[in-house]
Amino acid sequence: MTTNDRRAFRPDPRLSAALLLAKGVARGIQVAGRGGGTSAPGMVADRVDVGLLTKLTDRLAHGVVTVAGTNGKTTTSRMIADLLEAGGMKPVHNRSGSNLVRGVISAFASQARLNGDPGGDAGVIEADEAALPELLERVSPRALLLNNLFRDQLDRYGELDTIARKWRPAIERLGPETTIVVNADDPTLAALTTGVAARVVRFGFNEERHRLESLSHASDAAACRVCGADLAWHALYVSHLGDWYCPSCDNRRPDLDAIGLDIQLNGVESLDMTVRDTIRDTDGDHAIHVGVPGVYNAYNVLAAVAVGRVMDVPMPTIIASMAAFRSAFGRIERVTYRDRTLTLALVKNPVGFNEVLRMLTVATGGLEVPTLIAINDLHADGRDVSWLWDVDFELLADGDGKLATTGIRGADMANRLKYAGVAEDRLTPLPEEFESSLDAFVEQISAGGSGYILPTYTAMLRIRKILADRGAVESFWKQ
Ligand SMILES: [Zn+2]
Repeated sequence: MTTNDRRAFRPDPRLSAALLLAKGVARGIQVAGRGGGTSAPGMVADRVDVGLLTKLTDRLAHGVVTVAGTNGKTTTSRMIADLLEAGGMKPVHNRSGSNLVRGVISAFASQARLNGDPGGDAGVIEADEAALPELLERVSPRALLLNNLFRDQLDRYGELDTIARKWRPAIERLGPETTIVVNADDPTLAALTTGVAARVVRFGFNEERHRLESLSHASDAAACRVCGADLAWHALYVSHLGDWYCPSCDNRRPDLDAIGLDIQLNGVESLDMTVRDTIRDTDGDHAIHVGVPGVYNAYNVLAAVAVGRVMDVPMPTIIASMAAFRSAFGRIERVTYRDRTLTLALVKNPVGFNEVLRMLTVATGGLEVPTLIAINDLHADGRDVSWLWDVDFELLADGDGKLATTGIRGADMANRLKYAGVAEDRLTPLPEEFESSLDAFVEQISAGGSGYILPTYTAMLRIRKILADRGAVESFWKQ
């Protein structure tokens, strides 16, 4: 373990001035009571010293981990920050900030001292897809995690290739001092990291149990980068992620340095898996237990473990840190209300929704627990709800679990479920207002039983508020 020697930082008046200004702006925003103004301090600091982020991150003795990917950035970054800390480092993390460049600058400026001490000895930077090339110009990471690349809900007809094309030159500029930790189960990312100067550590699954039958509707089917033919999969795990190959040429998933296998899902609570890694000369298989649910999180776990190995955190420390990890507040929550246990899982795009549905149906082969789907289409939810047609609600057609719908677009949701083959006698379209529909839904659950609530973002906020106002979950919300 090393600590930063403050005397080692050469005085840098420009940097200090930029930090002073950033801190002043941040305080001003706080005093004015405007929460969430995370990019303004970075914006003004950047005008005074464009080198601020480079200077601060150069001073981090253990270097920087940059995390990029469409899904799971927040969870994976938190896991990585936790395991670096468990390994004796003091990470500086843009945890609360925006993950665009100005937001990252704001976060690092707020944690630095005016003398240019970065306030820690390692960095974890969560990078927005669009911001990654600019961030890589400013910060040369010790580890760059490329976790997955999905079409975003807001940009689902946009070009996945556009992102890949923008990333390519930035990734090619990295030298061997950077290790790229890449999800090789993602064909686009595997292609992006082939033949680069940086060291590459590839991870993926070799898993028997959790295979998908076919590409889901939400998937980004990919073409072979060598010959242009449509790719095929020996095994498919989440969306388009899996053991892919080209039927027309030799192109296939590259060999893996870290393998996830024997994944065991413990409902909405946790998962167990084995990680087999050859990143350092370690000894084969490691059993990992983590308090996050779903196959998609197994990818996040595997990614974080691989980054931990690259950052020289010992395997027993990684295992202990993962065992202590809990889901971020706001994604999956469990509350007790009127003697029923309600599990709330946020749904915001087809990929995430499919994972939730899989989680609810995998053990029983269909839906057996009463479920309320609450769909709003306010700005924060995304105004266009046609993405619901990309979700595999067909998974819910089997089983006896009752399905209720509510929210501004609850009627559309009920309609979608009918098309998915859900029998009419299982389906209850409830009113738009959550107050009454929540009660009607809870009536469908036997006392002492449990139910699932799957809300979009604003529906989640509203339902939580109602539950809190009714005193259901007091201790829970305080965390
Ligand atoms: Zn091919």
